[in-house]
Amino acid sequence: MFGKVLIANRGEIALRVHRACQEMGIRTVAVHSTADATAMHVRLADESVCIGPPNARESYLNTAAILSAATITGADAVHPGYGFLSENARFAEMVEAHGLKFIGPSPDHIRMMGDKIAAKDAMRRLDVPLVPGSPGALESLEEARAVADQIKYPVLIKAAAGGGGRGMKVARSADELEDAWRVARAEAKAAFGDDSVYMEKYLDRPRHIELQVLADTHGNVVHFGERDCSLQRRHQKLVEEAGSPVLTAADREAMGARVTGALAKLGYRNAGTLEFLWQDGQFAFIEMNTRLQVEHPVTEMVCGIDLVKEQIRIAAGEPLGYGQGDIRFAGHAIECRITAEDPETFAPSPGRVNTYHAPGGLGVRVDSALYSGYTVPPHYDSLVAKLVVHAPTRPEAIGRMRRALSEMVVAGIRTTLPLHQAVMDDPEFQSGEYTIHWLERFVAERQ
Ligand code: ADP
Repeated sequence: MFGKVLIANRGEIALRVHRACQEMGIRTVAVHSTADATAMHVRLADESVCIGPPNARESYLNTAAILSAATITGADAVHPGYGFLSENARFAEMVEAHGLKFIGPSPDHIRMMGDKIAAKDAMRRLDVPLVPGSPGALESLEEARAVADQIKYPVLIKAAAGGGGRGMKVARSADELEDAWRVARAEAKAAFGDDSVYMEKYLDRPRHIELQVLADTHGNVVHFGERDCSLQRRHQKLVEEAGSPVLTAADREAMGARVTGALAKLGYRNAGTLEFLWQDGQFAFIEMNTRLQVEHPVTEMVCGIDLVKEQIRIAAGEPLGYGQGDIRFAGHAIECRITAEDPETFAPSPGRVNTYHAPGGLGVRVDSALYSGYTVPPHYDSLVAKLVVHAPTRPEAIGRMRRALSEMVVAGIRTTLPLHQAVMDDPEFQSGEYTIHWLERFVAERQ
């Protein structure tokens, strides 16, 4: 097992990884920008190294500084968390070239899944069902028109390098196609430096359901069931549940078997998530994330495992030591992503947190790097806390989340706590009958 792990991230996820290492008896190295010198992940780690100024390009994305920090401190492995360098194949290669272990998949698989066109192509060959769309990249507006006529409007133009909901535009009819084509490409070029786009049928009332998988380096692949992440704003998740209110155990087993079979053929290793849209009882693959996801705690709560510890064990070459039949699903878990934003306008609200009080009690988990007196810097993602609850049934989990939200205090900055309270109080949310478009309308009606 590793003696020391460098955590190439910040915020709650850096803390999350630190906690797993600590319990495994592994020493940790935190890296931080000058803006994060007093951050909780730096305070708790065994060692810390400043890697640059606040701008993430010069710090958390600065591969040379991070690799130097790993070398100087004598780390054996690097955990990238999510975001930043976690899906950068080149970084994974450089980590390995420095004689360190990258706690994640192989660079080739990161590269393949980072190109959504290549990812869909791979899944097609592995018999995983896809959202209908263009067979590959769209070379011209004429080709886009031809594909749209064939799959029928509405259609979605998506960036091959997409992420974070950027570079995605809907065309509801032929008149809207040229604009969608132009805007999606311009956004993709600006955000990812790559304007390759493809087309998908725009599903009108799907749910976003994803499957968590783990694969070791000995050919064992298992899944940990699904997460329902349909509550989204601007294609970004706000609330996640495990399991999905609409999926049966038989659906889960069938899709799980198909996905683990596909990843075994691919020779995939470490953690991964396959994202699907689910409509009329059908799964359709949209993308695969080759990293730990923000919403991984809901899976941990219902399966009783620690996904980060599993990632570390796998990277160290250990076999899983259990099979699919050993994995049990107990109860229901919900996660609310609490961000430093105005709960109605979503304007960023960084600044000093005068008072922080975390809720507690049975089945309540808070993953957060906040503390009283901490100043949320304006430079990074606005996520400040993940509030997760676990209970025997979905109605009990909702009751527990309402109670936990009412106890939580983050004073001094605005947060989305009131929005989460309103969602949990809503009868439609409580019924479980929602699609990926539900929250957008709910937010609009509150404004
Ligand atoms: P990103 O990598 O930017 O997050 P995804 O492909 O994962 O992009 O899609 C993000 C979200 O956009 C999905 O969860 C879903 O809500 C919506 N979406 C993506 N593809 C489609 C589609 N074909 N039809 C309807 N909604 C879609």
